[in-house]
Amino acid sequence: MKLPLVFDIKTFAVHDGPGIRTTFFLKGCPLHCKWCQNPESISPAQYLAYNPLLCLRCGACRSVCSKLGEDFMLNQADCTLCGRCVEVCLPAARKFAGRELSPEEVLAQAISDKPFFDSSGGGVTFSGGECALYPDYLKACLSLLKGAGIHTCIDTCGAVPREHFEEILPFVDLFLYDLKKLDPELHREYTGRDNQQILENLRFLCARGKEIIIRVPLIPGYTDSEEDIRAIARFVKEELNGAVRRVELLPYNKLAESKYANNTAYRDGGLRYPLGSLTAQTNEYVASLSRIFEPYGIPSFSEVL
Ligand code: SF4
Ligand code: SF4
Repeated sequence: MKLPLVFDIKTFAVHDGPGIRTTFFLKGCPLHCKWCQNPESISPAQYLAYNPLLCLRCGACRSVCSKLGEDFMLNQADCTLCGRCVEVCLPAARKFAGRELSPEEVLAQAISDKPFFDSSGGGVTFSGGECALYPDYLKACLSLLKGAGIHTCIDTCGAVPREHFEEILPFVDLFLYDLKKLDPELHREYTGRDNQQILENLRFLCARGKEIIIRVPLIPGYTDSEEDIRAIARFVKEELNGAVRRVELLPYNKLAESKYANNTAYRDGGLRYPLGSLTAQTNEYVASLSRIFEPYGIPSFSEVL
C-alpha cells in the first residue's frame, strides 16, 4: 500500500468533531476551492515550506545549500529535497510539507492521546486535503483505531468515487461533510468541479444511516447569501429527509491569507490567495443565517453564537 503524505497532525483539536481530538491532515485534494484554507494540502506531492516569520536570518541553511539566495529561497527545479537545510534550521522555519505515516504510527499517536479522548468524548479525525482519496490507507488506520476503542471521524468534501466510502463505511463513527454551494455551475466555477458526485455521495451516506454533520464554509459573496443557505436547508429537508445530526456554519476568517504568503521556499512556486481581501461576516449576520434552518426543523450551529 502506498502511503499518502500527512502534512499536519493537530492534537487537542476541538473543532474537528466531538470532544478533544487528534486530527491527521492528508495531502492531495480533487477540488481547488478559491478560498482553500490549506493550500499546502492541494498537491499530493511533498515540497519544502519556508516561513519567513519564524526565520532568524542566521544563515545556517545557506551554509549547507549553495542554491539558496539572500532571501533564503530558491527555484523549485534546483531543490533536491535532500533535507539538509531542514536539519539545521533550529526554529523550524524550514520544513517539509508532508511525510509518510504508517497506520501503526497513526495508532501510536492516537494511543498516547487516548486519555484526552476518553475524558472528553473525543477521538481521531482524518482531514486534508481530501482524506477519502486514500480508502486503503484510511481503512487500515480506521480498523486499528476501532480495534483500540477510539471514536473515528472523517472530514470530507465528498468528491471521490462512492466505492471509497463503501470501503471505509464500517469503521467510521461520524462524517463531517462539506457542502459549499448547491448551484452546480457556480460550484464548478468556485471549486473546479460541479457538485453532482458530492450530493450523490451524501445521499448514499444518509441512506446507509451514517451519522453526519454537514459543514458550510461561509465565504463572503460566494457561499453566504440567505438564498445559498436556504437552498441547503431545503436540500437537507427534502432530499436527505433531515437525516443529519446538524448543519454547522463556518464563518469566514482570514487565517488562510497569511498561509498563502508564508507557504513555500520556492520563489517560483508561491501560491497567491486568489480572492483578495474579504470582510468577515458579523455575528448577527451568521446568527440570521443559522435561523434559516429553524422552520425546516434542522438543528444548526455556528461557532460565533
Ligand atoms: S530558514 Fe532557518 S536556518 Fe535558514 S536563516 Fe532562517 S532560521 Fe536560519
Ligand atoms: S532541501 Fe532543497 S533547499 Fe534544502 S538543502 Fe536540500 S536542496 Fe537545498
